[in-house]
Amino acid sequence: MTWLPPYRHLSETGELAERALALAALATPCRLCPHRCAVDRTAGQRGVCGLPAGAVVAAATAHFGEEPEISGTRGSGTVFFGGCNLRCVYCQNATISQGADMRRRAVTSADDLGAILLDLAGRYVHNINWVTPSHVVPWAVAGLDVAASRGLVLPLVYNSSAYDSIDVLRLLDGVVDVYLPDLRYADDESATEFSGVKGYVAASRAAVVEMARQVGTANVVGPDGTLRRGLIVRLLVLPNDISGVRESLAFLRDAIGTQVRIALMAQYFPAHKAPEEILLSRRTSVREYQRVLDVAERMGFENALVQEMEAQDFYRPDFDRGDEPFADAAQFHGRGTPDGPGEDPR
Ligand code: SF4
Repeated sequence: MTWLPPYRHLSETGELAERALALAALATPCRLCPHRCAVDRTAGQRGVCGLPAGAVVAAATAHFGEEPEISGTRGSGTVFFGGCNLRCVYCQNATISQGADMRRRAVTSADDLGAILLDLAGRYVHNINWVTPSHVVPWAVAGLDVAASRGLVLPLVYNSSAYDSIDVLRLLDGVVDVYLPDLRYADDESATEFSGVKGYVAASRAAVVEMARQVGTANVVGPDGTLRRGLIVRLLVLPNDISGVRESLAFLRDAIGTQVRIALMAQYFPAHKAPEEILLSRRTSVREYQRVLDVAERMGFENALVQEMEAQDFYRPDFDRGDEPFADAAQFHGRGTPDGPGEDPR
Protein backbone atom coordinates (compact mmCIF):
# COMPACT_ATOMS: atom_id res chain seq x y z
CA MET A 1 0.00 0.00 0.00
CA THR A 2 1.26 3.48 -0.83
CA TRP A 3 2.51 5.38 2.18
CA LEU A 4 0.90 8.76 2.78
CA PRO A 5 2.00 11.33 5.33
CA PRO A 6 -0.62 11.70 8.10
CA TYR A 7 -1.19 15.36 7.18
CA ARG A 8 -2.91 14.15 4.01
CA HIS A 9 -5.71 12.63 6.07
CA LEU A 10 -5.93 15.81 8.16
CA SER A 11 -6.24 17.83 4.97
CA GLU A 12 -8.98 15.60 3.53
CA THR A 13 -11.08 15.88 6.70
CA GLY A 14 -10.64 19.65 6.96
CA GLU A 15 -8.71 19.36 10.21
CA LEU A 16 -5.49 20.74 8.75
CA ALA A 17 -7.32 23.97 7.85
CA GLU A 18 -8.71 24.10 11.39
CA ARG A 19 -5.23 23.60 12.84
CA ALA A 20 -3.95 26.51 10.72
CA LEU A 21 -6.74 28.72 12.11
CA ALA A 22 -6.06 27.61 15.69
CA LEU A 23 -2.38 28.41 15.18
CA ALA A 24 -3.20 31.80 13.67
CA ALA A 25 -5.27 32.60 16.77
CA LEU A 26 -2.04 32.26 18.77
CA ALA A 27 -0.59 35.20 16.81
CA THR A 28 -3.16 37.70 18.10
CA PRO A 29 -1.75 38.58 20.60
CA CYS A 30 1.34 36.69 19.57
CA ARG A 31 2.41 33.77 21.73
CA LEU A 32 3.57 31.57 18.90
CA CYS A 33 6.94 31.09 20.57
CA PRO A 34 8.23 31.34 24.15
CA HIS A 35 9.04 35.04 23.72
CA ARG A 36 5.29 35.64 24.06
CA CYS A 37 5.67 39.19 22.69
CA ALA A 38 1.87 39.73 22.83
CA VAL A 39 1.91 42.01 19.80
CA ASP A 40 -1.05 41.85 17.42
CA ARG A 41 0.59 40.54 14.27
CA THR A 42 -2.70 40.49 12.38
CA ALA A 43 -2.80 44.26 12.89
CA GLY A 44 0.71 44.55 11.47
CA GLN A 45 2.58 44.73 14.76
CA ARG A 46 5.97 43.01 15.03
CA GLY A 47 7.73 41.32 17.90
CA VAL A 48 11.24 39.94 18.27
CA CYS A 49 10.98 37.88 15.06
CA GLY A 50 10.32 41.01 13.06
CA LEU A 51 7.38 39.83 10.95
CA PRO A 52 3.71 40.76 10.92
CA ALA A 53 1.15 38.03 10.19
CA GLY A 54 2.20 35.80 7.31
CA ALA A 55 5.22 33.82 6.20
CA VAL A 56 8.03 35.20 4.05
CA VAL A 57 9.84 32.63 1.93
CA ALA A 58 13.46 33.71 1.54
CA ALA A 59 14.55 30.75 -0.59
CA ALA A 60 13.29 27.31 -1.60
CA THR A 61 15.66 24.72 -2.97
CA ALA A 62 16.80 21.11 -3.12
CA HIS A 63 19.35 21.07 -0.30
CA PHE A 64 22.09 18.43 -0.09
CA GLY A 65 23.79 19.55 3.12
CA GLU A 66 21.43 18.09 5.71
CA GLU A 67 21.87 14.76 7.52
CA PRO A 68 22.14 11.81 5.03
CA GLU A 69 18.70 10.48 6.00
CA ILE A 70 17.21 13.93 5.30
CA SER A 71 19.07 14.93 2.10
CA GLY A 72 19.25 11.43 0.61
CA THR A 73 20.49 11.40 -2.98
CA ARG A 74 17.99 13.84 -4.48
CA GLY A 75 18.08 16.53 -1.84
CA SER A 76 15.72 17.86 0.80
CA GLY A 77 13.02 20.26 -0.43
CA THR A 78 14.03 23.10 1.83
CA VAL A 79 12.03 26.24 2.47
CA PHE A 80 14.03 28.95 4.24
CA PHE A 81 11.63 31.28 6.00
CA GLY A 82 12.57 34.91 6.51
CA GLY A 83 12.83 36.32 10.04
CA CYS A 84 13.65 34.31 13.18
CA ASN A 85 12.72 34.25 16.86
CA LEU A 86 16.39 33.99 17.81
CA ARG A 87 18.94 36.77 17.38
CA CYS A 88 22.17 34.78 17.26
CA VAL A 89 25.25 36.96 17.01
CA TYR A 90 26.88 34.18 14.96
CA CYS A 91 23.94 33.51 12.63
CA GLN A 92 25.04 32.11 9.25
CA ASN A 93 21.70 33.13 7.73
CA ALA A 94 21.63 36.67 9.13
CA THR A 95 20.72 38.26 5.81
CA ILE A 96 17.40 36.44 5.83
CA SER A 97 16.85 35.89 9.55
CA GLN A 98 17.69 39.37 10.83
CA GLY A 99 18.07 41.51 7.74
CA ALA A 100 15.86 44.53 7.16
CA ASP A 101 15.11 43.21 3.69
CA MET A 102 12.86 40.47 5.08
CA ARG A 103 10.84 43.02 7.03
CA ARG A 104 10.05 44.83 3.81
CA ARG A 105 9.17 41.79 1.72
CA ALA A 106 5.58 40.91 0.97
CA VAL A 107 4.33 37.83 2.75
CA THR A 108 3.84 34.64 0.74
CA SER A 109 0.17 33.66 0.41
CA ALA A 110 -1.01 30.14 1.24
CA ASP A 111 -1.64 29.51 -2.45
CA ASP A 112 1.85 30.65 -3.38
CA LEU A 113 3.47 28.62 -0.62
CA GLY A 114 1.45 25.59 -1.71
CA ALA A 115 2.77 26.10 -5.26
CA ILE A 116 6.34 26.38 -3.93
CA LEU A 117 5.99 23.07 -2.06
CA LEU A 118 4.58 21.35 -5.14
CA ASP A 119 7.34 22.80 -7.27
CA LEU A 120 9.93 21.32 -4.87
CA ALA A 121 8.13 17.97 -5.01
CA GLY A 122 8.38 18.18 -8.80
CA ARG A 123 12.16 18.19 -8.41
CA TYR A 124 11.90 14.70 -6.85
CA VAL A 125 13.25 15.80 -3.48
CA HIS A 126 12.76 13.35 -0.59
CA ASN A 127 10.83 15.61 1.75
CA ILE A 128 9.66 19.14 2.51
CA ASN A 129 11.94 20.79 5.06
CA TRP A 130 10.83 23.95 6.86
CA VAL A 131 13.84 25.84 8.16
CA THR A 132 13.11 28.31 11.00
CA PRO A 133 9.33 27.90 10.97
CA SER A 134 8.52 28.67 14.64
CA HIS A 135 7.39 32.26 14.05
CA VAL A 136 5.43 31.58 10.83
CA VAL A 137 3.90 28.19 11.52
CA PRO A 138 0.17 29.12 11.08
CA TRP A 139 0.75 30.35 7.56
CA ALA A 140 3.14 27.53 6.72
CA VAL A 141 0.46 25.01 7.72
CA ALA A 142 -2.10 26.85 5.56
CA GLY A 143 0.30 26.51 2.61
CA LEU A 144 0.81 22.83 3.41
CA ASP A 145 -2.95 22.34 3.32
CA VAL A 146 -3.09 23.85 -0.16
CA ALA A 147 -0.27 21.57 -1.36
CA ALA A 148 -1.78 18.49 0.32
CA SER A 149 -5.13 19.11 -1.33
CA ARG A 150 -3.29 19.17 -4.67
CA GLY A 151 -1.46 15.90 -4.08
CA LEU A 152 1.68 16.56 -1.99
CA VAL A 153 2.80 13.27 -0.42
CA LEU A 154 6.28 14.02 0.94
CA PRO A 155 7.21 13.75 4.63
CA LEU A 156 7.30 17.11 6.41
CA VAL A 157 10.48 18.04 8.33
CA TYR A 158 10.29 20.73 11.02
CA ASN A 159 13.77 22.21 11.43
CA SER A 160 13.84 24.71 14.32
CA SER A 161 16.03 26.17 17.05
CA ALA A 162 13.86 24.27 19.58
CA TYR A 163 12.63 27.59 20.96
CA ASP A 164 9.11 26.38 20.27
CA SER A 165 5.86 26.78 22.15
CA ILE A 166 4.31 23.59 23.50
CA ASP A 167 0.84 24.84 22.49
CA VAL A 168 2.08 25.21 18.92
CA LEU A 169 3.79 21.82 18.89
CA ARG A 170 0.61 20.11 20.12
CA LEU A 171 -1.22 21.58 17.15
CA LEU A 172 1.47 20.07 14.92
CA ASP A 173 0.91 16.56 16.25
CA GLY A 174 0.16 14.45 13.16
CA VAL A 175 1.20 17.28 10.84
CA VAL A 176 4.98 17.03 11.21
CA ASP A 177 6.62 13.74 10.30
CA VAL A 178 10.22 14.47 11.26
CA TYR A 179 11.45 16.88 13.91
CA LEU A 180 14.93 18.35 13.54
CA PRO A 181 15.47 20.61 16.57
CA ASP A 182 18.77 22.33 17.28
CA LEU A 183 19.44 22.17 21.02
CA ARG A 184 21.73 25.15 21.20
CA TYR A 185 22.44 25.99 24.86
CA ALA A 186 22.47 24.42 28.29
CA ASP A 187 22.49 27.69 30.23
CA ASP A 188 20.16 30.66 29.96
CA GLU A 189 22.84 33.31 30.40
CA SER A 190 24.63 32.25 27.23
CA ALA A 191 21.33 31.94 25.37
CA THR A 192 20.37 35.48 26.32
CA GLU A 193 23.80 36.95 25.63
CA PHE A 194 24.43 35.30 22.28
CA SER A 195 20.94 34.61 20.92
CA GLY A 196 18.71 37.18 22.63
CA VAL A 197 16.32 34.62 24.13
CA LYS A 198 14.98 34.24 27.63
CA GLY A 199 14.27 30.92 29.33
CA TYR A 200 15.80 28.99 26.45
CA VAL A 201 16.88 25.92 28.40
CA ALA A 202 13.49 25.03 29.91
CA ALA A 203 11.60 25.93 26.72
CA SER A 204 13.86 24.00 24.34
CA ARG A 205 14.03 20.94 26.57
CA ALA A 206 10.24 20.84 26.95
CA ALA A 207 9.95 21.18 23.17
CA VAL A 208 12.30 18.26 22.50
CA VAL A 209 10.38 16.06 24.98
CA GLU A 210 7.09 16.95 23.22
CA MET A 211 8.64 16.21 19.80
CA ALA A 212 9.83 12.82 21.04
CA ARG A 213 6.37 12.11 22.46
CA GLN A 214 4.83 12.74 19.03
CA VAL A 215 7.21 10.91 16.71
CA GLY A 216 9.24 8.69 19.03
CA THR A 217 12.96 8.07 18.86
CA ALA A 218 12.87 4.86 16.81
CA ASN A 219 13.25 6.54 13.44
CA VAL A 220 11.37 5.06 10.51
CA VAL A 221 13.12 5.03 7.14
CA GLY A 222 11.39 4.63 3.77
CA PRO A 223 12.60 2.52 0.84
CA ASP A 224 14.64 5.47 -0.47
CA GLY A 225 16.70 5.51 2.74
CA THR A 226 15.33 8.82 4.03
CA LEU A 227 13.19 9.44 7.11
CA ARG A 228 9.45 9.10 7.05
CA ARG A 229 9.02 9.65 10.74
CA GLY A 230 11.35 10.48 13.57
CA LEU A 231 13.57 12.84 15.47
CA ILE A 232 17.13 14.05 15.04
CA VAL A 233 18.50 16.38 17.72
CA ARG A 234 21.25 18.64 16.51
CA LEU A 235 23.94 19.90 18.86
CA LEU A 236 26.14 22.63 17.46
CA VAL A 237 29.52 22.63 19.19
CA LEU A 238 30.41 26.26 19.83
CA PRO A 239 33.94 27.29 20.88
CA ASN A 240 34.80 27.71 24.57
CA ASP A 241 32.01 25.31 25.56
CA ILE A 242 29.38 28.01 25.10
CA SER A 243 26.77 25.53 23.95
CA GLY A 244 27.25 23.21 26.96
CA VAL A 245 26.86 20.09 24.83
CA ARG A 246 27.83 17.81 27.70
CA GLU A 247 24.88 19.08 29.78
CA SER A 248 22.51 18.84 26.81
CA LEU A 249 23.59 15.25 26.21
CA ALA A 250 22.97 14.44 29.87
CA PHE A 251 19.50 15.95 29.56
CA LEU A 252 18.74 13.88 26.44
CA ARG A 253 20.00 10.70 28.08
CA ASP A 254 17.79 11.23 31.12
CA ALA A 255 14.69 12.61 29.34
CA ILE A 256 14.34 10.58 26.15
CA GLY A 257 17.15 8.01 26.22
CA THR A 258 20.42 7.39 24.42
CA GLN A 259 18.83 5.66 21.44
CA VAL A 260 17.80 9.04 20.01
CA ARG A 261 19.58 10.05 16.81
CA ILE A 262 21.89 13.01 17.49
CA ALA A 263 23.92 15.11 15.07
CA LEU A 264 27.08 16.54 16.62
CA MET A 265 27.87 19.54 14.49
CA ALA A 266 31.39 20.84 13.93
CA GLN A 267 30.46 23.40 11.30
CA TYR A 268 30.63 26.57 13.43
CA PHE A 269 32.51 29.50 12.01
CA PRO A 270 32.34 33.11 13.23
CA ALA A 271 29.73 34.71 10.99
CA HIS A 272 27.65 37.89 11.33
CA LYS A 273 28.72 39.73 14.55
CA ALA A 274 30.70 36.84 16.03
CA PRO A 275 34.13 38.26 15.05
CA GLU A 276 33.44 41.02 17.62
CA GLU A 277 32.73 38.49 20.39
CA ILE A 278 35.92 37.27 22.08
CA LEU A 279 34.50 33.87 22.97
CA LEU A 280 32.94 33.26 19.56
CA SER A 281 35.51 34.81 17.26
CA ARG A 282 37.22 31.57 16.28
CA ARG A 283 36.16 28.20 14.93
CA THR A 284 35.53 25.18 17.11
CA SER A 285 38.83 23.36 17.53
CA VAL A 286 39.43 19.70 16.71
CA ARG A 287 40.15 19.12 20.39
CA GLU A 288 36.86 20.71 21.52
CA TYR A 289 34.92 18.65 19.03
CA GLN A 290 36.72 15.42 19.92
CA ARG A 291 35.95 16.03 23.60
CA VAL A 292 32.24 16.17 22.76
CA LEU A 293 32.47 12.96 20.74
CA ASP A 294 34.16 11.24 23.68
CA VAL A 295 31.46 12.42 26.09
CA ALA A 296 28.69 11.21 23.78
CA GLU A 297 30.33 7.81 23.50
CA ARG A 298 30.87 7.52 27.25
CA MET A 299 27.21 8.38 27.89
CA GLY A 300 26.12 5.60 25.55
CA PHE A 301 24.85 7.52 22.51
CA GLU A 302 25.35 4.99 19.72
CA ASN A 303 23.23 6.70 17.11
CA ALA A 304 25.37 9.80 16.65
CA LEU A 305 26.13 11.51 13.39
CA VAL A 306 29.66 12.92 13.34
CA GLN A 307 30.78 15.72 11.02
CA GLU A 308 34.14 16.19 9.42
CA MET A 309 35.91 19.37 10.56
CA GLU A 310 36.03 20.42 6.89
CA ALA A 311 32.30 21.09 7.26
CA GLN A 312 33.31 24.50 8.64
CA ASP A 313 34.34 25.50 5.12
CA PHE A 314 31.33 24.16 3.29
CA TYR A 315 28.17 25.01 5.23
CA ARG A 316 28.19 28.68 4.35
CA PRO A 317 24.97 29.86 2.82
CA ASP A 318 24.96 32.81 0.48
CA PHE A 319 21.42 34.07 0.10
CA ASP A 320 22.51 36.47 -2.61
CA ARG A 321 22.53 33.33 -4.75
CA GLY A 322 18.72 33.38 -4.62
CA ASP A 323 17.23 29.92 -4.32
CA GLU A 324 20.60 28.12 -4.38
CA PRO A 325 22.43 29.33 -1.27
CA PHE A 326 24.38 26.12 -0.58
CA ALA A 327 26.38 25.35 -3.71
CA ASP A 328 29.46 24.47 -1.68
CA ALA A 329 27.65 21.97 0.51
CA ALA A 330 26.42 20.14 -2.59
CA GLN A 331 29.97 19.90 -3.85
CA PHE A 332 31.20 18.82 -0.43
CA HIS A 333 28.84 15.89 -0.40
CA GLY A 334 29.36 15.11 -4.05
CA ARG A 335 25.63 14.52 -4.32
CA GLY A 336 23.48 15.99 -7.04
CA THR A 337 23.93 19.45 -8.39
CA PRO A 338 22.37 22.47 -6.78
CA ASP A 339 21.06 23.80 -10.06
CA GLY A 340 19.44 20.79 -11.62
CA PRO A 341 16.43 18.79 -10.56
CA GLY A 342 17.00 15.30 -9.27
CA GLU A 343 16.27 12.36 -11.51
CA ASP A 344 12.80 10.89 -11.61
CA PRO A 345 13.10 8.04 -9.11
CA ARG A 346 10.21 6.11 -10.62
S1 SF4 B 1 6.58 34.50 17.00
FE1 SF4 B 1 7.57 36.54 16.90
S2 SF4 B 1 6.07 38.03 17.69
FE2 SF4 B 1 5.37 35.94 18.23
S3 SF4 B 1 6.07 35.59 20.30
FE3 SF4 B 1 7.65 34.75 18.93
S4 SF4 B 1 9.12 36.40 18.52
FE4 SF4 B 1 7.29 37.33 19.45
